[in-house]
Amino acid sequence: MNDSQFDYDLLVLGSGPGGEGAAMQATKGGMRVAVAERYTQIGGGCTHWGTIPSKALRYTITSTMKTLQSPIFQELGVHVSPSLAQLQRGTQAIIAKQVSMRQSFYERNNVPVLRGNARFLDQHTITIGGCDPIRAKHFVIATGSRPFHPEGVDFDHPRIFDSDTVLNMPPQPGSMAIYGAGVIGTEYASMFRNMGIKVNLINTRAKLLEFLDDEIIDALAYHLRDQGVILRHNEEMERIEGTDDGVVLHLVSGKRLKTDTLLWANGRTGNTDELGLETIPLEANSRGQLEVDEQFQTSVPHIYAVGDVIGFPALASAAYTQGRAAAMHMLGKIDGNLRINDIPTGIYTSPEISSVGKTERELTAAKVPYEVGHSLFRSLARAQITGETTGMLKILFHRDTLEILGVHCFGANASEIVHIGQAIMSQPEGRNTLEYFTETTFNYPTMAEAYRVAALNGMNRLF
Ligand SMILES: Cc1cc2nc3c(=O)[nH]c(=O)nc-3n(C[C@H](O)[C@H](O)[C@H](O)COP(=O)(O)OP(=O)(O)OC[C@H]3O[C@@H](n4cnc5c(N)ncnc54)[C@H](O)[C@@H]3O)c2cc1C
Repeated sequence: MNDSQFDYDLLVLGSGPGGEGAAMQATKGGMRVAVAERYTQIGGGCTHWGTIPSKALRYTITSTMKTLQSPIFQELGVHVSPSLAQLQRGTQAIIAKQVSMRQSFYERNNVPVLRGNARFLDQHTITIGGCDPIRAKHFVIATGSRPFHPEGVDFDHPRIFDSDTVLNMPPQPGSMAIYGAGVIGTEYASMFRNMGIKVNLINTRAKLLEFLDDEIIDALAYHLRDQGVILRHNEEMERIEGTDDGVVLHLVSGKRLKTDTLLWANGRTGNTDELGLETIPLEANSRGQLEVDEQFQTSVPHIYAVGDVIGFPALASAAYTQGRAAAMHMLGKIDGNLRINDIPTGIYTSPEISSVGKTERELTAAKVPYEVGHSLFRSLARAQITGETTGMLKILFHRDTLEILGVHCFGANASEIVHIGQAIMSQPEGRNTLEYFTETTFNYPTMAEAYRVAALNGMNRLF
């Protein structure tokens, strides 16, 4: 088909990080690009219901509580409990800044954002909000996901929330049950506990966040319990009963928990049901997710899918890189430098967690002869000065080649600290080793110094 028969070279569905990454990369590569967005503002779930509001609130809670609990405030006898509404006041301003900044990217690059729900009419044609058909040579589906709603749970009940609605919670509850201990459930458990809410975190699995390194999982569980979060593993919901004065969670194990509110944080569904996929035809799985190959192509090669709509890892960070990778593939530039398989984990619990590379469990299963170097934050001058002494950095490395195989960190700023290790891990063979950290002078006092301490600790284990 002749290119002039198409209105656009690429039509991106969704303006979250996945869609934005694809649109910007494609337009820089000379493609004629448009984006379809059904929400009133651009930025996606990331900006409006997910990453940005939750991280903005977390920052406000952490910094406010730290101030209120500081010895000076205690001595002055300042005892106040800010409400959720007060703590959230700054969030809207941050969202507005994000929206206007992202809007300017589209405007500067002459990428129109077409408002309305996009729906396929056939493999190359789409209607947006029922408007005249638009034809495009390629598509990127970046329509994100939404909280999974199981049958029988009344999400209209004023005390039952999901992650899209929880931040609109009316007066602060005294207690909350969080059903689902994935990243979102665990992050909210930390946040609400830090505000003084009694939290029950109900995990359907045996451990928290099983994809993490075991030592980090144990540390997280210890610190959550220490803060007062009640962890209940291996539980399954039987039913949820909303009453006038609370919510009763009936568990299959026979337990019954009554709390003021309930946050449902168990699973997400890809936003594919309104896309008219049957006209392509393309089929989503039972979770509404699309299958893609390594280049993010669906079974219809000119239709790509990126971000939450393809499932794991369901991170804004990954969605953006995937969008760029898909656009590069369309442009005929397959760029291995995008490192789409080298996605770090950043989990904004208290303590914060971040990791990249292999876990001890994976290396042991693969029979890799690795060794480990630890650095405890409490021994670092910088942590002693800031008072943020909870935490640890561990480096996993090959005991013969010293190649760094994994970096795992928990504690203040873990999600920043991990990137130093990631940068060295991604160096070419021979330069991706522990020696970088033993031979480099680090600013003092810094948290980065943890790398030198951990590297020397690991070296000392070799014989
Ligand atoms: C509470 C919470 C906290 C999170 N914290 C983090 C974090 O700290 N770090 C991190 O990396 N990730 C985090 N995430 C995950 C992150 O928000 C998502 O991975 C990311 O938003 C996915 O980007 P996306 O582009 O795939 O989809 P989205 O950001 O969801 O964007 C999809 C867009 O598509 C639009 N759309 C949907 N269907 C259509 C249609 N038919 N037509 C037109 N437009 C359509 C939607 O309106 C939306 O604007 C968090 C998520 C939640 C819920």
